[in-house]
Amino acid sequence: MTDRLATRIEDARDDLIALTQSLLRVPTLNPPGAHYRDICEDLATRLALSGFETHLVRATGAPGDSDAYPRWNLVARREGARPGQCVHFNSHIDVVEVGAGWTRDPFGAELDGDRIYGRGACDMKGGLAASILAAEAFLIEHPDFAGAIEISGTADEESGGYGGVAYLAEQGWFDPDRVHHVIIPEPLGKDRICLGHRGGWWAEIETKGEIAHGAMPFLGDCAIRHMGAVLDAFERDLFPALAARRTEMPVIPDGARSSTMNINAIHGGQPEEPEDSTSLPVHCVPDSCRITIDRRFLIEEGIEAVEAEMRGLLDGLKARRANFDYELREINRVIPSMTDPAAPVVMTLEAAIAETLGSKAQHVASPGSYDQKHIDRIGRLKNCVAYGPGKLELAHKPDEWISVTDMLESARVMARVLEKLLLTD
Ligand SMILES: [Zn+2]
Repeated sequence: MTDRLATRIEDARDDLIALTQSLLRVPTLNPPGAHYRDICEDLATRLALSGFETHLVRATGAPGDSDAYPRWNLVARREGARPGQCVHFNSHIDVVEVGAGWTRDPFGAELDGDRIYGRGACDMKGGLAASILAAEAFLIEHPDFAGAIEISGTADEESGGYGGVAYLAEQGWFDPDRVHHVIIPEPLGKDRICLGHRGGWWAEIETKGEIAHGAMPFLGDCAIRHMGAVLDAFERDLFPALAARRTEMPVIPDGARSSTMNINAIHGGQPEEPEDSTSLPVHCVPDSCRITIDRRFLIEEGIEAVEAEMRGLLDGLKARRANFDYELREINRVIPSMTDPAAPVVMTLEAAIAETLGSKAQHVASPGSYDQKHIDRIGRLKNCVAYGPGKLELAHKPDEWISVTDMLESARVMARVLEKLLLTD
């Protein structure tokens, strides 16, 4: 890295703090998806000063989009002096609910020592700010660069990204003929490269019964007992099988290198009463019980096998258990994504981390998922990773914070990536 570029980034410390604070003070809560247009306009104003052409794109008709809460996205592009490759930094602008337990103002963006506190500080407005700083410093030092730099701020990542990156990808914004390298500054840590994520399959399972008087349950058929048999089969057969399955993907933390399943919810029979209710139980045998499952699967498994395994378990119960009947409804699916460790963006980041921080980059994969899934599947762009400052463990927690030093160091890495990719002929 040119010393001048490194120095320029270090000297921009106060500017980086101010930029991060201004982003954190816009409460882009999702749900409901508030203030997206405000933050997009702020970003557009800032990036226009560095010669970016800015586009505000509303994901009209996407899930969640409404006139009350329109799904606005910003895409900014800065053309170089001559043709070349395009490096795109994509950050989501939405943040999750605040939750309880804060000792700081979640939208105050308080600076305390090296830390800036606020909802979205690490996930991921700090990463967004670092990528902007990297691009701005690069543009001043290398105005004659080849290719293009893009920075996007996108909606709804926390609710699946359908009003954000998925929409942009469908509209061609991530087509491989206009974008060549994508870096998503999610908070994986300044010396880690995230190659992708596991898959997800969400479904509702309903067991059926027959309503009858609660004093004569033998005249009906209890759907909750049938669900008990399902849960029992999960404990006996499914959970041990999932835990024994391991992936070659470098998923962190280690527990997520196995297949996993969460049971999100269970509902059946008499609806819950408010806490202050004085009403007594009804006398009915429940005729329906439903659970929602969140099945995270490995790239080696495949979505069809995941669904077939669940149907096999339920069909087995149907064969063995009197009057057992069920319905299985898929709610959503996410296909796993894994970028080749030898892909150009991975190799370049690896070299930039070594040169800038003097450390060997660790390859990781995410236990959940993030917007890479849409860039991969809809955009058909395979040269995409997550790389950014912050501690993943702080995401969605109270008193979330980002380290200014980490932001500066990862900005130096990102600027070095730009030098490597955009200064060649
Ligand atoms: Zn995030």
